[in-house]
Amino acid sequence: MWPFDGWRRKRILDESLIGDALWRRTLADHPILGRLRPGERARLRELTTLFLHEKLFEPVRGLTLDDSMRAMIAVQACLPILNLGLDWYDDWRTVVVYPAQFVRPRAQFDGTGVMHEWQEMLGGEAWERGPVILSWADVEASGVGEGYNVVLHEMAHKLDMRNGDADGFPPLHRGMQTRAWTDAFAPAYEDLNRRAETGHDTPVDPYAAESPAEFFAVVSEYFFERPGVLMEAYPAVYRQLAEFYRQQPLG
Ligand SMILES: [Zn+2]
Repeated sequence: MWPFDGWRRKRILDESLIGDALWRRTLADHPILGRLRPGERARLRELTTLFLHEKLFEPVRGLTLDDSMRAMIAVQACLPILNLGLDWYDDWRTVVVYPAQFVRPRAQFDGTGVMHEWQEMLGGEAWERGPVILSWADVEASGVGEGYNVVLHEMAHKLDMRNGDADGFPPLHRGMQTRAWTDAFAPAYEDLNRRAETGHDTPVDPYAAESPAEFFAVVSEYFFERPGVLMEAYPAVYRQLAEFYRQQPLG
């Protein structure tokens, strides 16, 4: 962070900290924030204020975003970086918001060289060094402690992409071991794939079996939304995420 940024941010916080009524409403709308201690809540309020100032919100397809809608997105986006800092999001600027899920054309060659094309419905998407794209309907369904959280999911992809392609391997902090990360994540990912392939129940959303990147994004959702479920299913993954996010949602 440049000294100028520090000065500018301090001025924003002095002059336009998110207001009491809106802040109380935003916290009340998100039961997963209830566990935060007063000091953490104050820091989250500051980060949310700065996020609202520094990111550009672009509603599309006739959607209009009011202050409380923007705050809902911002507060969830800032939860993962509560103890990391807003600079972890300094390589992108724009949040595009669709009213509901949006269509993405997909195309892939199969093993015999035949091109397959299809359309996928998405609740969110994160582009490397580009925008985060969200469905408002999905944002509204997030943050209530049921394990699904499109904002946390896309932010996890953003953190993952800080060292290149999304691959389930974000830049680890000094003191964290690459080996410990792999030893926690690889067997958990394999276990989830085995369960999904054999038609068994999966402890987390089976979408996590798509790729290591999706696994990291989905277990990040559970880490904040349903930490007990993650701890029971994959305790080593929970512990690595606690080190990475520098938070202990289980207390
Ligand atoms: Zn994803």
